[in-house]
Amino acid sequence: MLSTGDKTPGGQDPGLCKNCVYERRIESDRGSVFIMCKLSFEDSSFPKYPRLPVLNCSGYLPK
Ligand code: SF4
Repeated sequence: MLSTGDKTPGGQDPGLCKNCVYERRIESDRGSVFIMCKLSFEDSSFPKYPRLPVLNCSGYLPK
């Protein structure tokens, strides 16, 4: 069923968010997985739900 690997169940690679301290995985009732960017709460120039994969991000901070 749900994959717990690096990719979302849809097979999408989140890119940089995968390993970023600001990343928060949100799982919907239907099993879809979204990445919420917690940096968006401090800086509105970052989208709350970034379009994946994020390949380049000035806020990226590795875990
Ligand atoms: S700061 Fe950038 S890399 Fe980190 S979670 Fe937000 S969008 Fe993703």
